[in-house]
Amino acid sequence: MHELSLSSAIVNTVVKHAEGRRVTVVSLRVGRLRQVVPDTLAFYFDFVARDTVCEGARLEQEIVEARLRCHPCGLEWPIEIPAFRCPTCGGGDVGVASGNEFEVESIEVEEAACIAQR
Ligand SMILES: [Zn+2]
Repeated sequence: MHELSLSSAIVNTVVKHAEGRRVTVVSLRVGRLRQVVPDTLAFYFDFVARDTVCEGARLEQEIVEARLRCHPCGLEWPIEIPAFRCPTCGGGDVGVASGNEFEVESIEVEEAACIAQR
């Protein structure tokens, strides 16, 4: 149910930023290390978005590849290369540079409708 709680977090964030406008697209950046299943996330998003301004919005998910980074020399490399020492300087002071992202990158909303203001 990982994706369910993530979906709730997305909808809460987007509803706050939409300020009552209907949302058409939600763009996410999802790090590979989050182990999110895109289809499952989209499914729960539709579910959680019901009866909010996000209802019917399209969820776009950009997957961010996981990378490691050597702190002393700044080199980054994809985590697919199973090196936990820096290939350049040989240092062991290495951390995750990317892959933990889970953020709403942007949202698109409909222009304010005038119908309600007659
Ligand atoms: Zn290094």
